[in-house]
Amino acid sequence: MLVNLLDFDLDHLSNYCESLGEKRFRATQLFRWIHQRGAQNFEQMTDLAKPFRQLLQSRCTITPLQVISRQNASDGTIKWLFDVGGGNAIETVFIPEQDRATLCVSSQAGCAVGCVFCSTGHQGFSRNLSTAEIVAQVHFVEHTLRQERSHEVRAQSPRIITNIVMMGMGEPLQNYSALVPALKVMLSEHGYGISRRRLTVSTSGVVPMIERLGQDAPVALAVSLHAACDAIRDRLVPLNKKYPLSVLRQACEDYLQVAPRDFITLEYCMLQGLNDSHENAQQIIDWLRPVGQKPLAAKVNLIPFNPFKESGLLCSAPSVVKSFSQVLLQAGVVTTVRKTRGDDIDAACGQLAGEVLDRTSVVSRMQKQKTIALKPVASLS
Ligand code: SAH
Ligand code: SF4
Repeated sequence: MLVNLLDFDLDHLSNYCESLGEKRFRATQLFRWIHQRGAQNFEQMTDLAKPFRQLLQSRCTITPLQVISRQNASDGTIKWLFDVGGGNAIETVFIPEQDRATLCVSSQAGCAVGCVFCSTGHQGFSRNLSTAEIVAQVHFVEHTLRQERSHEVRAQSPRIITNIVMMGMGEPLQNYSALVPALKVMLSEHGYGISRRRLTVSTSGVVPMIERLGQDAPVALAVSLHAACDAIRDRLVPLNKKYPLSVLRQACEDYLQVAPRDFITLEYCMLQGLNDSHENAQQIIDWLRPVGQKPLAAKVNLIPFNPFKESGLLCSAPSVVKSFSQVLLQAGVVTTVRKTRGDDIDAACGQLAGEVLDRTSVVSRMQKQKTIALKPVASLS
């Protein structure tokens, strides 16, 4: 079987080159061809010896994802639906802003966590994506847009994507072994050169893996909190029964020791009548600052819920979101309300424009899109 080179971080690629009888450093050249220059075939790689190129040709591929659809929103947001086989599709969203451009990447087809407000959760788990499938989303968008925009004069860097958030479909920390090499490709100066501060993993709270992430690839962390009271969080994010709030808080605290930023982003989806009272806001404050303990350094990002029929849930009214945020702000908790983007292509779900505070956690979710994402590919056309 042919080896898809998008599956390898630089270390793995070096091992692979060695196994083919090549010097390890050749891997850097190869890696740069693939990720920095977007090469699709080995013929192009003219600074590699011909016999090596021929060997690669016979054993490897650089396999892109198959595009099912692309939608461009009037605000510049673009979302792609990719076919990952077996009737599964995943989504990737590009969110341009004045001073950066963020890519929202999927880690799984479906999700096993089953949060009640998330349509991916409602659909259930289909399968983990491979490292290649995670990396291919970045590879495809970066090089597609670079080609489309080749006529533009871009100040210093030819790079299009400046930030990446693992906030598409799936729970990245439940696909840990594929995630970490993918993060390394994104971070590598020979790959996409995204800084650790500009690469965010969002998790519903897979506590043991938060700790491992801190050791293996300490990038910016966003935790989907949604409630700071166990009884409510058990209901909204079922994983809370396994890793309750006290354990999650400790994991956040520990992560801050290695995190590239000096705070954790807490995502909080505003759900009418479920988690949006002043008492609920106070619970966040108390969770952040338990009596006798050092406060947890965090920024709260309130996400207006993007409703979908099966959930039976409603978004809190704007005035409720506002007064909820005021309770937090008055207590000195840094709080933002996420702005939506790409409304006209149903890319309006959770998104933080980030102009106020957290400049790393630009997020995109498209729940309506997700409702169709796992239907057989044939029915999507
Ligand atoms: N599984 C990870 C990452 C993907 S979800 C996690 O849960 O963190 C990314 C974000 O989208 C999460 O914060 C989640 O709360 C939010 N989200 C999911 N469904 C939503 C919806 N219907 N409306 C608004 N935000 C939603
Ligand atoms: Fe999974 Fe995240 Fe959706 Fe929860 S919010 S079901 S963890 S994708």
